[in-house]
Amino acid sequence: HKYVYTFGAGKAEGNKDMKLLLGGKGANLAEMSNLGIPVPPGFTISTEVCHIYDENKGQFPKEVEEQVLAGVHHIEEIMGAKFGDAENPLLVSVRSGAPASMPGMMDTVLNLGLNDETVLGIIKKSNNERFGWDSYRRFVQMYGDVVMGLKPESKEEEDPFEVIIEKVKKEKGVELDTELDAEDLKRLVKLFKEEIKKRTGKDFPTDPWDQLWGAIRAVFGSWNNPRAITYRKLNNIPSNWGTAVNVQAMVFGNMGDDCATGVAFTRDPATGEKIFYGEYLVNAQGEDVVAGIRTPQPLNKTTKTDPDQTTLEEIMPEAYKQLEEIRDKLEAHYKDMQDIEFTIQNGRLWMLQTRAGKRTAEAAVRIAVDMVEEGLIDKETAVMRVEPEQLDQLLHPTFDPKAEKKVIAKGLPASPGAATGRIVFHAEDAEEWAEKGEKVILVRIETSPEDIGGMNVAQGILTARGGMTSHAAVVARGMGKCCVAGCSALEIDYKKKTMTVDGAVYKEGDWISLDGSKGEVIEGKVPTVEPKLSGNFGKLMSWADEIRKLKIRTNADTPHDSEVARNFGAEGIGLCRTEHMFFEGDRIKAVREMILAEDEAGRRKALEKLLPYQRDDFYGIFKVMHDLPVTVRTLDPPLHEFLPHDEASQKEMAEEMGISVEEVKAKVEALAEFNPMLGHRGCRLGITYPEITEMQARAIIEAACQLTKEGIKVFPEIMIPLIGTKAELEHQKKVVVETAEKVMEEMGVKVDYLVGTMIEIPRAALTADRVAEAADFFSFGTNDLTQMTFGYSRDDAGKFLKEYEEKGILPDDPFQTLDQEGVGQLVEMGVKKGRSTRPDLKVGICGEHGGDPRSIDFCHRVGLDYVSCSPYRVPIARLAAAQAEL
Ligand code: PEP
Ligand code: MG
Repeated sequence: HKYVYTFGAGKAEGNKDMKLLLGGKGANLAEMSNLGIPVPPGFTISTEVCHIYDENKGQFPKEVEEQVLAGVHHIEEIMGAKFGDAENPLLVSVRSGAPASMPGMMDTVLNLGLNDETVLGIIKKSNNERFGWDSYRRFVQMYGDVVMGLKPESKEEEDPFEVIIEKVKKEKGVELDTELDAEDLKRLVKLFKEEIKKRTGKDFPTDPWDQLWGAIRAVFGSWNNPRAITYRKLNNIPSNWGTAVNVQAMVFGNMGDDCATGVAFTRDPATGEKIFYGEYLVNAQGEDVVAGIRTPQPLNKTTKTDPDQTTLEEIMPEAYKQLEEIRDKLEAHYKDMQDIEFTIQNGRLWMLQTRAGKRTAEAAVRIAVDMVEEGLIDKETAVMRVEPEQLDQLLHPTFDPKAEKKVIAKGLPASPGAATGRIVFHAEDAEEWAEKGEKVILVRIETSPEDIGGMNVAQGILTARGGMTSHAAVVARGMGKCCVAGCSALEIDYKKKTMTVDGAVYKEGDWISLDGSKGEVIEGKVPTVEPKLSGNFGKLMSWADEIRKLKIRTNADTPHDSEVARNFGAEGIGLCRTEHMFFEGDRIKAVREMILAEDEAGRRKALEKLLPYQRDDFYGIFKVMHDLPVTVRTLDPPLHEFLPHDEASQKEMAEEMGISVEEVKAKVEALAEFNPMLGHRGCRLGITYPEITEMQARAIIEAACQLTKEGIKVFPEIMIPLIGTKAELEHQKKVVVETAEKVMEEMGVKVDYLVGTMIEIPRAALTADRVAEAADFFSFGTNDLTQMTFGYSRDDAGKFLKEYEEKGILPDDPFQTLDQEGVGQLVEMGVKKGRSTRPDLKVGICGEHGGDPRSIDFCHRVGLDYVSCSPYRVPIARLAAAQAEL
């Protein structure tokens, strides 16, 4: 069985379509090799081995050893060097590479193959003693960390290797790593090895083959390290994919001043602009760029922001030109923006990686639209290129440009957005504070993959070091999170938990704001304004609209929300919850009066007061939604929700209504239920008190008649909640129809209206054929349907659902993503049965799932006519509905 795939010297055994087997990195290294792009030769151990290694507790299949040996020979042949040879040694890198990109989450070892003998060979070959010892000390440091597990023991402790480096520099009286000479570096190697022995009890391996197997094991093992697990969870990456391992000849960007290393994007990952965007460092090794230890320089004059910067274009024009040609070749081939890594060794360019680049939502939209206009991709591909969820970033407020702002420092605009929060300095603290409901900004000297959890809960991320391709910047853009990076004016003290800027000290817990589009750090909180959507956004949305068949409505209870949704492209209201209207201003008094009334006459008197308010509400909403359907739901929650539950408010209510506190308390007690969600609510209220439904129907039809008279087209759809039997619906429908007829007669106009029902009780779904006989339309209330199908209280399930997800009992929170296997069956059955007795039945969904892309895909498949979601999710739903079609 084949487990190892080689590449290099213009050919490869794999290609870009083998990502599941070779991982993204391995598949693309093979593809580049096939394209004739210079790639250091190497081989990929497939993800299959990762599974077997996991299942067999660290045992490899027997063929692997032989195939790895052959792989190393393949590299040796092309490079003309020999692994472990004292005279002419071959050094390799060992890197992870999963099917989906997981930047920095897993392990890497560079310069592998060095020991006290081979280092001399490297020195002789490169004729550079300092380089040889520097490579060796980097190797021992990395291997010690990644393979031998030498890490700081607490978050306060510094990296043990860095402590040693600091000590050696201090003794020598120098400040920079670059001021250490060959002798110092040689000493570091010795000190590092001693530290490893002291802390782990183990000797540092000298045999390159032992080193290689150690590294391969560590990389496979890193698939299951906590930060990789967290990252997979956040990004919905299946845990059974596994990682591949890439072993590749080392090329060196740190052999001298004709060497460099860099990272680039074929277009600007923040804005999407078609410029070659990247950073490099002279005489450095790859990890130096991303780690944010030295501040990298821009590639070219287009991206130069400061006259003091030196571009690659200026200092190595030949290599730069070749890099630009490769950029064009890769874009033309992959037809997508690429994120590439390269190294220049003695003036010669090598490509180390290419992959689809992470980008902000703004960039994703722009690149997709530009590429259609450049003729690279078609509209369908463009629509598939943008994650619906990502659009969320574009739809939210930005800082008010007119607001007063005290900008205290400027860094790089690493990831756009506006964020306000309280300063925390450690990822763990960010998580703790966020758990308590605090908004935080994570402030770090630089971030590392360990910080992923804290970055995810933070409003924004601020770092003192690192460039546009630093870990913080890349991860933040991937998360759609605001980030200001490389803000060198900040002095951060982790121990004291302070950040000092120009003498001003900011402590943990202080409020700051970040403008990720401008790179500004601002003192305190800043007010925000609604976003303006670009022309590209409109274009992409119009393509999505051409493709999709599913209609998108919104859940809105006010004219304002209706307008926001309409501007985002809503094609109607799928759910107007009338109970929210009952709380506003003086109305709650009339509602309470109704609840306290002794008899029907008393209730009618109170409802009489509510009628004009309700009519105005509907008038306002119908007007905004002219020409589009509006589904209004009759009263749904149990009545006790409208009564005050604490002593003080009960007293206040009693005084206002001129009754005794005892009377109020008695009513509260009388209405109390053990299971209010399964209690006297929904249509059950309207059946007990038909006058409530009557008043609401009257308000709806009066408003509709009034607008019709004014020449405005309205399409009211009256929806009865929580029915379980056809008879319940028939009862309420009769009340509605009789009232409507009466009102239209009184007002002398006719309006077209529908009466339908929510399907949110399993019994309604099971008997949907019967229910449909009385319904013009169905709308699936999947919040209640999920609650009642699982038997999980939607108000309490949060307590255990997280654990259910962590333990793999449920793949997702079923209140966020529809449980297609169970609840989905009821939806599918409801649609089928409903249409069996009423073929033209209109069917939608108005639970939270209506705005969730994966659930939308399901709704499309089972033949719903529309989904309804909150206003801000309307564009997300439009895009998801188009993707469901493709
Ligand atoms: C539902 O149950 O899915 C629904 C939309 O109604 P509510 O959330 O108001 O109960
Ligand atoms: Mg409901």
